[in-house]
Amino acid sequence: MASKILVPESGKPITLKNGQLEIPDYPIIPFIEGDGIGPDIWRASKYVFDAAVEKAYGGKRKIAWMEIFAGDKAKGIYDEYLPEETVETIRNYYIAIKGPLTTPIGGGFRSLNVTLRQVLNLYACVRPVKYYRGVPSPVKQPTKMNVVVFRENTEDVYAGIEWVMGSDEAKRVINFLNSEFNTKISLDSGIGIKPISETATKNLVRKAAEFVIENDRTSLTIVHKGNIMKYTEGAFKDWGYELVQQEFGDRFITEAELWSKYDGKLPEGKKIIKDRIADSMFQQILTRTDEYDVIATPNLNGDYLSDACAAQVGGLGMAPGANIGDIHALFEATHGTAPKYTGMDKVNPSSLILSGVLMFQYLKWAEVGQIIEEALEKTILKKQVTYDLARQLEGDIKPLKTSEFAKAIVDNF
Ligand code: NAP
Repeated sequence: MASKILVPESGKPITLKNGQLEIPDYPIIPFIEGDGIGPDIWRASKYVFDAAVEKAYGGKRKIAWMEIFAGDKAKGIYDEYLPEETVETIRNYYIAIKGPLTTPIGGGFRSLNVTLRQVLNLYACVRPVKYYRGVPSPVKQPTKMNVVVFRENTEDVYAGIEWVMGSDEAKRVINFLNSEFNTKISLDSGIGIKPISETATKNLVRKAAEFVIENDRTSLTIVHKGNIMKYTEGAFKDWGYELVQQEFGDRFITEAELWSKYDGKLPEGKKIIKDRIADSMFQQILTRTDEYDVIATPNLNGDYLSDACAAQVGGLGMAPGANIGDIHALFEATHGTAPKYTGMDKVNPSSLILSGVLMFQYLKWAEVGQIIEEALEKTILKKQVTYDLARQLEGDIKPLKTSEFAKAIVDNF
């Protein structure tokens, strides 16, 4: 099939040299607009990105955007939701950004997002959650929230290994387990498998530990449910400690050592490694918020926990995300397609805009990210906000449309 992708003539691809990305001044970056609210928030985000790059570099640098397709738009063009050409293009261009995608309804479809993360081995889902001044919050001290969640992105119950109740496969698995391992699984059960490997765990924890060191953060917390799921979540915790001990032993001390050897005072240059059981972590992050910094956790815990953290500081409309592998990175808003708002130019584009900030940091164009973050905060402080924040703020605030909010950010550069 002929290519459906128009490669921009003005740009150059990002290349890989000696294991490092080389970013040209006019890098080609593929983007997926997304379904539902995707086109609205993408249009607004691109407007902000281009203006911020122009402000930072006065034309010396510029992104050459290249549209690639997934979801409903791809179905119309290729007659499939996730064309191979899309996956290959991200593979070849290393860095991409996307809006949300609908999970097609019907037998046999897996989430496009999950599939993209798995086939590109983007094993770390990185979700920074912090407070921007002016954002309404349901808690008393939202400034205490400043965590970066590293969620394992390829395994756990998200691996997609599951069989519907009554299917031949489910019955065979149940019969096998009941007869070979003397389990007592009822025949009217659906079955899901939860694989957690040493390799994927260590890859994730390595990224999180590197992040702590490179960004001069204080602690790394492993969040798990190992008291119940010993050989998956419990092993995740053990492998996490092992990796930190093996590869960063000179930089980290355990929480127990902090008290037994150092009387609770962190020695200069050292970081803390600790762990929490997932259920207790949900109350800790509410009640002792500032004791948590960087978090490493399996897929499902990370999904829940990052949304719960985001709820304290403005909700899903404000929550950015990145899916990162050894080299490749796919940046995306944390929320879904919010289908009821499709085409209404209504929702908050901040999640995708802040995902772009992460992308600019990854490109080492940090100035651009800084311009955007400062202007976003200024805009919200002036109560120039979309409906989701307007309804939480005191007073009679007229919400801005998605496009008006983007324009307000640029006007506040
Ligand atoms: P959702 O799209 O995240 O929307 C749930 C609610 O969150 C919305 O109704 C809205 O709340 C709020 N919200 C989401 N995005 C917002 C924004 N930008 N600004 C302001 N508020 C926002 O969740 P869903 O309705 O459960 O999922 C819809 C589809 O998205 C599903 O097909 C799902 O599979 C998919 N999905 C995709 C991704 C992804 O692409 N990474 C992630 C999650 C879900 P109010 O109603 O209170 O205004």
